Amino acid sequence: MKDELKKIFEAGGFKGMVKFDEPMSAHTSLRIGGAAEVLAFPENILSLKNLLIAAKAQKLPVFILGAGTNLLVRDGGIEGIAVSMEAFKRIEVIQDEGGEAMFFVEAGVSLPALINFTGKKGYSGLEALAGIPGSVGGAVYMNAGSFGAEIKDVIEAEYP
Ligand SMILES: Cc1cc2nc3c(=O)[nH]c(=O)nc-3n(C[C@H](O)[C@H](O)[C@H](O)COP(=O)(O)OP(=O)(O)OC[C@H]3O[C@@H](n4cnc5c(N)ncnc54)[C@H](O)[C@@H]3O)c2cc1C
Repeated sequence: MKDELKKIFEAGGFKGMVKFDEPMSAHTSLRIGGAAEVLAFPENILSLKNLLIAAKAQKLPVFILGAGTNLLVRDGGIEGIAVSMEAFKRIEVIQDEGGEAMFFVEAGVSLPALINFTGKKGYSGLEALAGIPGSVGGAVYMNAGSFGAEIKDVIEAEYP
């Protein structure tokens, strides 16, 4: 599979760091886990999209890595392509008036950082999730929740 994997990155259309046989112990909070055949760090949405399209076309398995706070990677590692969302840390205010706000938040933003950001702007809604580690993408994937609130309660739309 290594040759097929290398071809994907040699074909162009991908910007970002690529690590082969990367130990996942360096990317999980429990510091355990074997190597990912490839761990890719797309720099932008286009690179992420191109990578996913190429992996699908070649039927290569893809694993999306958030902040690694809820991962137990087996000693045998991860087959195919693990994709880090580390570069996607943008938070944008889309609307902020009349006591209500809407934010555009990328998947790699840390959930505690988002709670801090919205709190500083004076908005409530996420405070029940304070103390939950990880990225926003991981929280959405798992529908993280606590004290009767879940992240799904504050999601308006996914990325178009
Ligand atoms: C100390 C501690 C306290 C916790 N308390 C709570 C709690 O009170 N309530 C609660 O609900 N949870 C709790 N959790 C679990 C928490 O919700 C998860 O650890 C966190 O949401 C995982 O996010 P992550 O970015 O680290 O994801 P990772 O650990 O990297 O990945 C977890 C899963 O999400 C997937 N994933 C990650 N990012 C994406 C993405 N962008 N797109 C698609 N899939 C993605 C991964 O493929 C994987 O399957 C706690 C965890 C810890 C360690």
